[in-house]
Amino acid sequence: MNLLFLAHTEADGTLAKSALEALAATVQLAASLGTPFRVGLIGDNPGPAADSIATCGAAGFLTISGAEFAQARYASDAAAAEALIRAAEATLVTAPASSRWNRVLPGVAHRLGGRADTHITGLDAANGQPQVSRWFYRQRMEAVFTRSTRPWLLALEGGIAPAWQGAAGAANAQAVVLTLAAPRTQVTGFEAPASDQQTIRPDAELLFVTGAGWTKKQADGQVKVAEAGTLILDFLRLSRSSLGSTKSLVDLGGEGQSVLPFLSHLNQVGQTGSTPRHAKGLATCCHGEEPHTVGWRFIGERRAISLDANCGWSRGKADILYVADAFAVMRKVNELLA
Ligand SMILES: Cc1cc2nc3c(=O)[nH]c(=O)nc-3n(C[C@H](O)[C@H](O)[C@H](O)COP(=O)(O)OP(=O)(O)OC[C@H]3O[C@@H](n4cnc5c(N)ncnc54)[C@H](O)[C@@H]3O)c2cc1C
Repeated sequence: MNLLFLAHTEADGTLAKSALEALAATVQLAASLGTPFRVGLIGDNPGPAADSIATCGAAGFLTISGAEFAQARYASDAAAAEALIRAAEATLVTAPASSRWNRVLPGVAHRLGGRADTHITGLDAANGQPQVSRWFYRQRMEAVFTRSTRPWLLALEGGIAPAWQGAAGAANAQAVVLTLAAPRTQVTGFEAPASDQQTIRPDAELLFVTGAGWTKKQADGQVKVAEAGTLILDFLRLSRSSLGSTKSLVDLGGEGQSVLPFLSHLNQVGQTGSTPRHAKGLATCCHGEEPHTVGWRFIGERRAISLDANCGWSRGKADILYVADAFAVMRKVNELLA
């Protein structure tokens, strides 16, 4: 079996944490399979990145370098992955599930007559064959499976192994030459909101989830959306937590109602939303319905604040439920944090 680990360098020439996690998972897989592995890197100048992981145990390093491989572009990323896999004669390929690799690996597998599987959350070996884990049906069922088709390309989810750590050295990387026809797609730059406007923070300790209750009439008969927005944004700023939402609240915004303008469908957590991973979660003004809480599967410690003592959270979905007014609680919490 020829095992190849693929990664791309970041803008600063280093490897992302998710790449080092996928590398660590690949090192373990190679040990379980009893097979050597090689590393294939792409980037503007991936040599230093190869040197930074020189002692990972790889039997060899291949690189494709050039300015056209520094940035995400389907044509160049796919061509580079294909060239590296062919050069290594790889039958099994692992890569971190970055947006770049997720986008191109299925197409690369098709070019090579192989198969690709994304969102891999575990790697193992049985009878000398790789076994991979993946969730299906919106994270409700986990399957462990193998394939006989080769090459088999696997995009590994972040967090499935601790990031590889080790000494740098001389990787003596072998350059694979790839000349691209003039690319038709030019990357002109990135647009991203200022970091204090980013509400989705995958590395945050805490996931803070807002529900439709923030927009409902409160005990005094008034709707207090503006105050809700201030309390939520103040808490995010003070706690650096990541913002999630229920579908109900996100949908209200999509219907043009004046709700919380900083929420989009990207914040939605649940069966038809995302399943983020954080050490802790705090749900506010949310009922704890099953299609929502299924997205809390990978949240370590779960707490919720709801006025309703009979809400879904009270039925085993939260570790701690505060039956309280979230406006009052979050006002006090913000005061304490400030
Ligand atoms: C096929 C399918 C897929 C779905 N997928 C998703 C999904 O991916 N994600 C998702 O979120 N939903 C999903 N849903 C919808 C889900 O079932 C719920 O309807 C939705 O999540 C409920 O949103 P909510 O809890 O914000 O609002 P509500 O059900 O309206 O609950 C609001 C809660 O806020 C409380 N509240 C009000 N004021 C206060 C206050 N001052 N302090 C404290 N608490 C207060 C109320 O007591 C109430 O419990 C899906 C539904 C279906 C059918």
